[in-house]
Amino acid sequence: MFYRDRAAGSVPRSIALPVVSDASSLPTAEESSLPKPKSKVQMPFATAPVARVTSVMAPAGPSLFESIEKVKDDTLPRIREDLGDCTRCKLHKGRNKIVFGDGNPNADLVFIGEGPGADEDMQGLPFVGRAGKLLTTMIEAMGLQRKDVYICNVVKCRPPQNRAPEPDEVQTCSPYLLRQIDAINPKVLVCLGAVAAKTLLENTRGISQFRGEWLEWRGRKLMATFHPAYLLRNPNAKGDVWKDLQKVMVELGLPLPKKTKSS
Ligand code: URA
Repeated sequence: MFYRDRAAGSVPRSIALPVVSDASSLPTAEESSLPKPKSKVQMPFATAPVARVTSVMAPAGPSLFESIEKVKDDTLPRIREDLGDCTRCKLHKGRNKIVFGDGNPNADLVFIGEGPGADEDMQGLPFVGRAGKLLTTMIEAMGLQRKDVYICNVVKCRPPQNRAPEPDEVQTCSPYLLRQIDAINPKVLVCLGAVAAKTLLENTRGISQFRGEWLEWRGRKLMATFHPAYLLRNPNAKGDVWKDLQKVMVELGLPLPKKTKSS
């Protein structure tokens, strides 16, 4: 794991994204000339250019998701109800609140993180700490708001000391993630960081090897990009993430920023 600072420090009042020197950097919220959608975004997929999609290498051995039975007409409230006051894995022992997920149940775009940090555990909401503020800025740079997308994690309870979720925890919790994805039925999945990418893709490749590439995942388009917590420690990587998000915007038919500020 290359990011472990999710709970570090207090939440700054604002997280400035870098001043844009070229199209590969994230614009600040002020710089973004994107129109703010009013409610649910109607994304004109019909006009979106077709992106090249790489097939994901099939995992060796049985898929983590193969044994998971599809629940007909599944819904997020039903999944949450099935999760209940979960004690299925050891993470429940240290949790304050289950962080199920948040956002538009009909979203075309779903962001998947790793697992709750301290702030998320306290509030019961995903991505509300420092990394979450940066994710919110990224979403807004795309011309969207948090309520337009759906945000969730691989595991729903905070791992102690913000360690990476262990394989048994991922195995136990990921059926709920899978059901969430199926219930929402998004066009695009964005995996934030290696844990989410490796969980869904069931591989052990380093995220740098496929970051920013369109992958096919169970009939959906998936893109893996760096985790916002990684960006907090490595701001130079923001340009790469912004490039990835712009690919997502093209795929969803969202207008790209007309101009970016040069330094
Ligand atoms: N990091 C994550 O992966 N998920 C959260 O919800 C918060 C921080």
